[in-house]
Amino acid sequence: MATDHRASPVPNGTGHALVIGAGMAGLAIAQALTAGFERVTVVDRDRLPTETSPRRGVPQDRHLHLLLPAGLDALEALFPGLVDQLCAQGARTGDTDRLRICLNGYRLAPARTGHRAVFCSRPFLESHVRRRVREQPSITVRDGVHIRGLAVARDGGHIEGVELASPDGEGDDVLRAEVVVDCSGRRSPVPGWLAELGLGTVEVDELDVQVRYVTRRYQLPDAVMDGDHHVLVGPTPDVPRGAAMTHVEDGSWIVTLFAMAGAQAPTDGDDFMRFAADLPIRDVQEAIGAGRAMDDPAPYRFPANRRHRYERLQDLPAGFLAAGDAVCSFNPIYGQGMTVAASQARILQERLRAGDLPSARTWFGDIAAVIDVAWQLAIGSDLAVEAVHGRRPLSVRMRNRYLTWLQAAAVDDPRLTERLVRVLGMVDPPSRLLQPTTIAPVLRGALLTR
Ligand SMILES: Cc1cc2nc3c(=O)[nH]c(=O)nc-3n(C[C@H](O)[C@H](O)[C@H](O)COP(=O)(O)OP(=O)(O)OC[C@H]3O[C@@H](n4cnc5c(N)ncnc54)[C@H](O)[C@@H]3O)c2cc1C
Repeated sequence: MATDHRASPVPNGTGHALVIGAGMAGLAIAQALTAGFERVTVVDRDRLPTETSPRRGVPQDRHLHLLLPAGLDALEALFPGLVDQLCAQGARTGDTDRLRICLNGYRLAPARTGHRAVFCSRPFLESHVRRRVREQPSITVRDGVHIRGLAVARDGGHIEGVELASPDGEGDDVLRAEVVVDCSGRRSPVPGWLAELGLGTVEVDELDVQVRYVTRRYQLPDAVMDGDHHVLVGPTPDVPRGAAMTHVEDGSWIVTLFAMAGAQAPTDGDDFMRFAADLPIRDVQEAIGAGRAMDDPAPYRFPANRRHRYERLQDLPAGFLAAGDAVCSFNPIYGQGMTVAASQARILQERLRAGDLPSARTWFGDIAAVIDVAWQLAIGSDLAVEAVHGRRPLSVRMRNRYLTWLQAAAVDDPRLTERLVRVLGMVDPPSRLLQPTTIAPVLRGALLTR
């Protein structure tokens, strides 16, 4: 393990840690911090609802949010019993064979992975996690409070807390903490604050994808989905459009259609239906054709995958950490964000349980490993879409060719679906798809279809 030249305070169950943002990352990180700190404060500028309802600070929460199997495991490890609580309150659950998946135009054979999947809305999931956080005596959640800066020691060596914007706009308060974790999401102001403090410029990697989401809620007759809980239709290289629909806690369905890289997204109800009719499989069109829309189409724009390369900064102040979308946000069609955030929280929890508070340098190195896997899955898949502009090295082109063969072979082979779903669900590393037991049927299928 690398030696850090900026020492961090070693947690010993004393001290105060502060989290900026009470989204999924902030809540998971707050829970993890209780393993090393006597007090943890989570601050959010939103007034946080006491029950399940959307909120301003998370404008994406109306859109379909799928929790990948690895994310479910990480959240359950952080909040034991959470999955049963979600299911007891109405979340739908089943093995992954209750998913209908069409990737690259290929409908994969349904397959069990032995992993339980849970389907619910984002506000429902967040409200349950928030309740668990609020139940922790060592965590204080302060809502309706805007953080406007980092408080850093004069020599830039360590964090002293955060600056709060006072409600009347006059003067600022400093909330003191030994550790501050930025979980303020994709539009995090922290890179700007660090630059203003003279602590360096965070490099950013981006891949422009211009994703447009449009979402509606539907009531569907029970028979239409025949007990299945989720449909996913990915883009193909020449048709950068897709859809996902999921059964949620109140019995309704969230239906999200998306277009990428300049493709037109639906604008009204008629368009919504026409768009669904143009997808490679008819499941979404048939379902919503038999159902009743409960609201108007709601749009959302996601411009680019964006990764902040904090691990490349040499002189971050001791006590500064960041997690979730504030570090890296991925094209949402792959459903990775909450899983990556929860996995990062697990890394922190394990470190703290071992009596080790990672310095900024160690932390960003640690979480880069989780981010790398998700980033390569997302970027690689985005680059399979011809209309996405980006460099396609030979490794990416070979990967995408192999995945196309694998998806084609998985149409008739549930074992291949199972292996692919475990990788896309971030349970297994992508290298699992290169084992001889997978390569052999994939290449056989590719040769037979020549
Ligand atoms: C359209 C869309 C669909 C998505 N679908 C999926 C999916 O299917 N599966 C999945 O896993 N992920 C999905 N994601 C990603 C997911 O929403 C995020 O990765 C996840 O919520 C983690 O985000 P976060 O907690 O880091 O940030 P956020 O959820 O954005 O939360 C940030 C919080 O910080 C607060 N805040 C910001 N600035 C300040 C400040 N200065 N002071 C105080 N508080 C502040 C905000 O109010 C907010 O509560 C999707 C994203 C989008 C855009």
